[in-house]
Amino acid sequence: MIRDVSVTVRPGIVTYPGEPGPTFTPIHAMASGDLDNVNALSMGIHTGTHVDAPRHFIADGATADSLDLEAMVGPCRVVEVPGDDAIGAPFLENLGLPPDTRRILFKTTNILRAQKPVFDPTFVALGIDGARWVTAHGIRLVGIDYCSMEPFHQQGETHQELLAHGVVIIEGLDLVRIDPGEYELLCLPVKLEAEGSPARVILRDLRRPS
Ligand SMILES: [Zn+2]
Repeated sequence: MIRDVSVTVRPGIVTYPGEPGPTFTPIHAMASGDLDNVNALSMGIHTGTHVDAPRHFIADGATADSLDLEAMVGPCRVVEVPGDDAIGAPFLENLGLPPDTRRILFKTTNILRAQKPVFDPTFVALGIDGARWVTAHGIRLVGIDYCSMEPFHQQGETHQELLAHGVVIIEGLDLVRIDPGEYELLCLPVKLEAEGSPARVILRDLRRPS
């Protein structure tokens, strides 16, 4: 069974402060008598479900087109994070994840924030000690269910730690209908030569063969 954990890109979706959301500008419109419908799309790259590449916080870092597909496809753990505190190393340690875990998606109380029509800076994210735990344990990808992997008050430390170690970051996931557990992850970002890229992300439920 395939679960879509991507959000729909449409005008009005919540974005990080300063991030321009999607605008569709008609180039051709059948309603105006044109032969077909063609739109131009304009939006900040960090809109909706997307990946961050090293270039986001490292000046000469790799761009999204060269992210390792092996990191973005494969077994994945969806972990439930209770409460409103940043995700820290003790929490991650106490999960007792198998040592071969390479991909973790955090299902947090952001589910409630994501339902609001405006940005909520109290969102749950990965603290710097949590990021160091991730890089120390060979994790290749982490994902979260709000606009950023980094607590709002931080200055880039979480991104820098993850991206400097080649960890792919997925932000803006929709995990509301996903139970914690083990899945197969398929995250395919558009092949953009940029610091990030919009992505379609799906989970395949390993317990229920399709
Ligand atoms: Zn981003």
